[in-house]
Amino acid sequence: MKNYDVIVIGGGPAGLSAAFEASKSELKVLLIERDKCLGGILNQCIHTGFGVQIFKEELTGPEYAERYIDLIEQSNAEVLLNSMVVEIDKVDRKITVMSEYQGRLTFTYTALILAMGCRERSRGSVIIPGTRPAGVFTAGAAQYYTNIMGDKIGENIFILGSGDIGLIMARRMTLEGSKVLGVAEIQSFSSGLNRNIVQCLEDFEIPLYLNHTVVEIHGDTRIEGVTISKVDENYKPIEGTQQYISCDTLLLSVGLIPENELTRAAGISIDGKTKGPVINQEMETNVKGIFACGNVAQVHDLVDFVTLEGARAGRNALKYVLRYFQNRNLTIEKESESRKELNQEIGINISNQFLMVSPQVLKRELLDVSQEDFQVMLRVSNPMEKGKIIMYVDGVKFKQFDKKFLTPGESIHLKLSLSTLPNTANNLMFELTEV
Ligand SMILES: Cc1cc2nc3c(=O)[nH]c(=O)nc-3n(C[C@H](O)[C@H](O)[C@H](O)COP(=O)(O)OP(=O)(O)OC[C@H]3O[C@@H](n4cnc5c(N)ncnc54)[C@H](O)[C@@H]3O)c2cc1C
Repeated sequence: MKNYDVIVIGGGPAGLSAAFEASKSELKVLLIERDKCLGGILNQCIHTGFGVQIFKEELTGPEYAERYIDLIEQSNAEVLLNSMVVEIDKVDRKITVMSEYQGRLTFTYTALILAMGCRERSRGSVIIPGTRPAGVFTAGAAQYYTNIMGDKIGENIFILGSGDIGLIMARRMTLEGSKVLGVAEIQSFSSGLNRNIVQCLEDFEIPLYLNHTVVEIHGDTRIEGVTISKVDENYKPIEGTQQYISCDTLLLSVGLIPENELTRAAGISIDGKTKGPVINQEMETNVKGIFACGNVAQVHDLVDFVTLEGARAGRNALKYVLRYFQNRNLTIEKESESRKELNQEIGINISNQFLMVSPQVLKRELLDVSQEDFQVMLRVSNPMEKGKIIMYVDGVKFKQFDKKFLTPGESIHLKLSLSTLPNTANNLMFELTEV
């Protein structure tokens, strides 16, 4: 058994950034990745569009990842590849890892950072009726076969879901020489970034069927076609609007969910809206010393925000370890007890016009001492040309933010100065109204 001060699970952009920040110290840091190389999902995203906020450049996914992999290589952090964390024991602060070359390993930690990314929803989770032929792929799997394996996955492709991944794959498949017959979207709008609708569909004259979904898959061994149908406001197919589309491949881009099996099993509270762990302004979960960042905390639209979150988690894990050593004579239970008094939380709530908020709680003890810029991240449920976001503290209007062109595909980041919050605050509420 080896001991580390900080262990980071997942070597994507969130984990790379977290491990780099934590390693700016004398602390012993370990970064664990189940794949054979670092970089996470970025390795298969060969299109440009990464790093526009941080580097003011349009990098490809691998180029963006390389910048942080280089930093890790020059840092004190140790890296363990081909190794998957299979269990977290929060009481003994211990993790179990299955490693391709070293077998079963156990490590202890003082602070743990979860950065496991997210997974795709599959045909099973959206329940599409029909036969079960070959040729039905999630968009991420299709991207892996195309960009990493160099395989062509089909000739005539239909895509369900117009989020960024669906849009990007429409263009990618076209560039690979396949014919993309259309993209169906169950909502009345695409949840992808505007630039992707223009650059990935309109530039290639690929039709977007809004208010449509796939209602049946046809084919014996290989998919032969799909039936699509218009849907009503409750997403129910409208009789008489069915249309058969002949195709040999269906790509599903129907949503991402934080990879939270380990999180759940460790007894960490999960937020019903983000589907990731409940976190506070330091990216710490409800379990002391366990932090979460990137897509495991909530699915992000831009990698830059993932990197910034990773850095925040890394810095705060480092601070946590230093605090922990100052109180090292305390057992975990006593430590929790001694902090109970101080550790009251302020809840952050949202009205129905928002899909999610992050963080979901503020740790009161950190309000005066937090030197960092603090941001609340929100995502709207429906597009809105002009809206005003009102922040209430314990039911009293505290601040107003006027915003333009709000869409579910683009997260909103509100800067807040924590020191201006009243000491007595118990609850923050964000409401949105159309202007
Ligand atoms: C198709 C696609 C297109 C995108 N396009 C853009 C774009 O144009 N611009 C942009 O800014 N962003 C884009 N993004 C978003 C961006 O890539 C992601 O937000 C970002 O990569 C998420 O980083 P992460 O570190 O949280 O997760 P990931 O990159 O998914 O990394 C998580 C890592 O954790 C590892 N892991 C998981 N579980 C374990 C375990 N138990 N043990 C060990 N390791 C584990 C995984 O193997 C993986 O390497 C795109 C995303 C996709 C999928």
